[in-house]
Amino acid sequence: MNQSISTTDIRFEWPRLRLPIFFIVDDPAPCLNLAHFEQYWEPHVRDVPNTFTAAWADLIEEFGVRGKFSVLPVPAGIGRIDRTLPDVKPADQEEFLRIVRERVSPQMDICIEFLTHFLAWDIQCERPGDYTEKEMGPHTNRNHLTEYFAYGLRILHDLGLQPTGATSPGASCRDIEWTYQAAIRDAVKEVCGLPIAWYFLHVDDRSPVVLPRIMSLDKERGEACVTVVSATDDPSWRTQFGEPSQFDILITEDGQAGRLVELYRNGSVLGFHTHWQSLFSEGRGTGLADLRITLGRIREHLGAGVQWVKCSELARVVAAQAVAQVQVTERGDALEVRLTSTIACPDFTIRLRTERPIREVRAGNVSLRRLTGINSSLESSTWREEPGSIVWCADLPSGELILTLS
Ligand SMILES: [Zn+2]
Repeated sequence: MNQSISTTDIRFEWPRLRLPIFFIVDDPAPCLNLAHFEQYWEPHVRDVPNTFTAAWADLIEEFGVRGKFSVLPVPAGIGRIDRTLPDVKPADQEEFLRIVRERVSPQMDICIEFLTHFLAWDIQCERPGDYTEKEMGPHTNRNHLTEYFAYGLRILHDLGLQPTGATSPGASCRDIEWTYQAAIRDAVKEVCGLPIAWYFLHVDDRSPVVLPRIMSLDKERGEACVTVVSATDDPSWRTQFGEPSQFDILITEDGQAGRLVELYRNGSVLGFHTHWQSLFSEGRGTGLADLRITLGRIREHLGAGVQWVKCSELARVVAAQAVAQVQVTERGDALEVRLTSTIACPDFTIRLRTERPIREVRAGNVSLRRLTGINSSLESSTWREEPGSIVWCADLPSGELILTLS
């Protein structure tokens, strides 16, 4: 008896059936603490030594953390980071950039956070203007904003930092978000040659499920701009003032409560953020030490249920899920699943609802490895049976992929 299969029996899942988790760090600049310049009326340590930046790199390597790390192209408007900054030894500036290039960038997307995070920068005269980037909305337009972002991306790109997106200082340009997302998308494409851009502008610490959103999409060209959302407040901001981190708001020691646990139980993406100032804690490193505790709890209690991702990787997944077309056809005893997409995506994971006994899943000419046991974690190029469905994970190419289930 033939069982009819339709595309409604197909569901795209998160890669390897793990919930994506990402960590966002705002405000870093070479060897300088932004707070010293931006919150100039408060006492803040000016210099961030490279030993601290190296300790940060050690931590993310140890825990396999992924997400994004801003690098301000013109920190506080004191100068471009591809030229010698005032108050920073050239050798120290070079060493900071080396650590970011060689140790941070493999783990984290590098992005601009506008240019200065302080006074808006006149990109023609190369000097600070008389309003701040946070108040930029009414002073800019799409062309200016695209040039503004391209200016910053070019600085990072030419330093070998491979930027992929942007962060908005103090939720700037929220009032003109449609223009803002188009400007980022166009600037990332022009300077970095990347068809998919992402940005961080929104925090949502209330919703039970917090997902990235596609702000623009060209299905034919495979181009997109995606907003990634943090689901928490910065738990370590007050460490600048000698207070402890509120890290229990993320995940408690027993792993039973906290915002990340709530998101996990709801099947949400888990995005959270902090600031470089919060990790540095005026030289005490309180926030960085507290982050180690949080990462340990995440590893212990959420473990194999989550997958650390860069923001660009998450943007690619949701864009690929949005453009991929699927067609299911019966061919004798076999089922043929034809996937077409303009966006490639590694570990693309699909569930098909079916009661048929399946013995083999082939992706193109490759036979996927069958996993037994429902708790075995899905890896690249594998598949397994679950009650009422089968689920597989195989790289999605740009173009066509034919899977045969027999
Ligand atoms: Zn910021």
